[in-house]
Amino acid sequence: MNNKKGYDRKFQNPTTLLIVQVIKQYLPDLYDEVERTKERNNKYIRGIISARTGLTLSSKKHRLPNQETIEIEKVKIEISDDLPEKLLAILDSIPEILLTYILHFNKMEKTINELKFQEKNSNDINFLIDNHYSSNGLNESIGYLENLILKIQEQNIIERLFKSSPNIIGEYIHEENKINIYWIGIGIINQITNLRVDELTLITMLHELLHAYTIQGFDIDGNQWDKHILQNINLQITEGFAQIYSDLIIQENFSYLHKTFISLSKRLQPHYKEYKSWLDLNDRNIYEKVRELLLKTRNSRITSYAQFEKLLKSIEKNSKDIVR
Ligand SMILES: [Zn+2]
Repeated sequence: MNNKKGYDRKFQNPTTLLIVQVIKQYLPDLYDEVERTKERNNKYIRGIISARTGLTLSSKKHRLPNQETIEIEKVKIEISDDLPEKLLAILDSIPEILLTYILHFNKMEKTINELKFQEKNSNDINFLIDNHYSSNGLNESIGYLENLILKIQEQNIIERLFKSSPNIIGEYIHEENKINIYWIGIGIINQITNLRVDELTLITMLHELLHAYTIQGFDIDGNQWDKHILQNINLQITEGFAQIYSDLIIQENFSYLHKTFISLSKRLQPHYKEYKSWLDLNDRNIYEKVRELLLKTRNSRITSYAQFEKLLKSIEKNSKDIVR
């Protein structure tokens, strides 16, 4: 058993090894930062999720005399040294040199900005460098990098990476009762997008914990979502619940994360964004409505999106009737 963590671990897979070597230069504390963020927020986030969804991961069934059972299903969060298979398959198909450049993508964009600043101010700073300056060199470098970025973008690799989601940076594994946070994946996304490591970690934890609570959580009557139903359920429904609650909780409790959440969501596949059409997120009773929607989806054993949309309409109609 390999007890070493983070960069100290021996990586067998050559693609993972290459990625780790590149991101280590820029993010030497990556693993620790992900772990710290997890430790600091784990309990706090669970408390908020439980309060907002009305679901718990443990259930006390008091109602039946002499049959009081306490079921506890804890969901552990592990910081995984692996990369999800789907993501690895995409990364493996990219030539090594191109992969290295993709991990430099953000640096190249920053460098262009810096070179443009230098070019713009070059006349004013010439007194410091004895007028030895020629703007041709700077313009040439800017042109070189801009062209390179264009060629990399034409390969659509970054889009392909995001399409392998939800598993780039986190994954809820129902059968194993756990959540994986892929710290190397977080490093990759940070290098491509410049979104902060701690913010990516928090958003991932929240999204995956919401899967755990909405799927595995007990309602007030001690019911869970039927495991057999879940095997055939439309992804728009399960992803939608994780995303709609993420959006609401972030706006309410972690407003500083909202910009990053939006920026990340924009790149994801459509079924991660469909929830925006479900309900008015600014509704005063939005949490009650989402909870009603979730419990009815679970209890009515809905699997298709068409059935779900019917339910959605009935909830909207009911709430309008009440207002009248
Ligand atoms: Zn998800």
